[in-house]
Amino acid sequence: MANKICRCHCNTCGDDREHDEISISSFPELNSERIVVTHEITAVSCRGCKTAAIREKIVKDGSEITQLIYKPQRLWLQQPNWVEKLEEVDNTIYGLLVEVYSAANDDQFRLLSMGVRAALDHVMTYLIGDAGSFERKLDKMVEKKHISENQKDMLLVVIDAGSATAHRGYKPPRDLLEQMIAVMQIIIQQHYITGPMLQSLKLKIPPRPTPVESKPHQK
Ligand SMILES: [Zn+2]
Repeated sequence: MANKICRCHCNTCGDDREHDEISISSFPELNSERIVVTHEITAVSCRGCKTAAIREKIVKDGSEITQLIYKPQRLWLQQPNWVEKLEEVDNTIYGLLVEVYSAANDDQFRLLSMGVRAALDHVMTYLIGDAGSFERKLDKMVEKKHISENQKDMLLVVIDAGSATAHRGYKPPRDLLEQMIAVMQIIIQQHYITGPMLQSLKLKIPPRPTPVESKPHQK
């Protein structure tokens, strides 16, 4: 009999991939609300890299998935390598980012959203000092040429989503969080890593030779 195939995240490939799935067991249980739910235990194996994991699906009323647990846990957000370099430069932003990636992989979406906003606030205060509200900080970031008008518009959306979580209990969906993190990463990497690296590389580039003025050709 052919294996069933499903699509889920692979930690090794770092993306959603096709997996072969083999059912291990399925059993009913009374949950905390005294409702009968079914636990479906399955082994999933990535068709690309062959890494395997165990998936537990908790199903209510025959089709409603109430919980999906993977062992090992699915790391849908990998911490970029450059984050480690921040520890020496700015320990606070390093600590914030480690917590942001940890919240992402624990599906703590509200903490993640507030963490992204806190990280951006820290970067802006680091670059321009405490200029007041987020809007004023963003205006000053543009004025000081740290970001473009386009980046300011993107950051406004990211910060607004973080504020909605902090003050109005908003739980952003995963695709919005992915975009929030992508924008945050660009800003942080640009100011802490790429910018300083380019400055020091610039000093190592041999200067252009001064052009020698050619004498007019004599006949
Ligand atoms: Zn894989």
